[in-house]
Amino acid sequence: MFNQLKKYLQSDQTVSPEAVCPNCWGRQEYQGQFSDAIKKEEITLSNIDQKKGWIEAYAAKNLHGIKLQKKGNKVVCPSCNLAI
Ligand SMILES: [Zn+2]
Repeated sequence: MFNQLKKYLQSDQTVSPEAVCPNCWGRQEYQGQFSDAIKKEEITLSNIDQKKGWIEAYAAKNLHGIKLQKKGNKVVCPSCNLAI
């Protein structure tokens, strides 16, 4: 999860992190809260590796519900039941 979020922060942040549901992530509550939390914690690309523990804890607490899960040959979102 950390690596996906790191990749997300290194990108232009217009696409959702790979590991989470793009549908749910697109709602302001997740994307906005994550951006705010990152800003508040003063996480930048130069200190992101030191903040790994914090990011993992944040993801476990706040993004767990929209983390895509493998089911057969599809991945599904436990929150909105989107299947990819
Ligand atoms: Zn979803």
